Amino acid sequence: MTLVSQIFSCKRCGYCCHGETTVSLDEKDRERMVKALNIPEEIVKETFWRQTGKITQMKTVDGHCVFYEEGCNVHNGRPWRCAQWPLHPSILSDENNFHTISESCPGIKKDVSYEVFCQILRKLMDEADIKC
Ligand code: SF4
Ligand code: SF4
Repeated sequence: MTLVSQIFSCKRCGYCCHGETTVSLDEKDRERMVKALNIPEEIVKETFWRQTGKITQMKTVDGHCVFYEEGCNVHNGRPWRCAQWPLHPSILSDENNFHTISESCPGIKKDVSYEVFCQILRKLMDEADIKC
């Protein structure tokens, strides 16, 4: 059993891809997505992105991310926040956040205590060299 599978296993339910807003895309996210889609940035921008001031997000269609269709259609080019979800560093400093995220993500193992979850998440972050 891998470290991550001790606390999380994605059920591909798509809950995290639903809603009227999506995560915002930083510069690296935009570059990665354009590369993964292999179409010109202008077309990607027009077709898939929503610009609100300086914030770029993915468009939504029928209450979910434009890329969602029984899974992520841009998996290799998804934003880093999507790739990180639901193992968010804020869980380490806020137990309420852990419970909120756990309630919204059926992939989080429900039989793991907050303390054990944090121990494993810390190890995963150390391995990936992610700072809180
Ligand atoms: S809500 Fe959790 S289990 Fe469902 S698709 Fe998102 S990460 Fe996977
Ligand atoms: S990019 Fe993929 S993982 Fe992220 S919200 Fe859209 S469909 Fe979900």
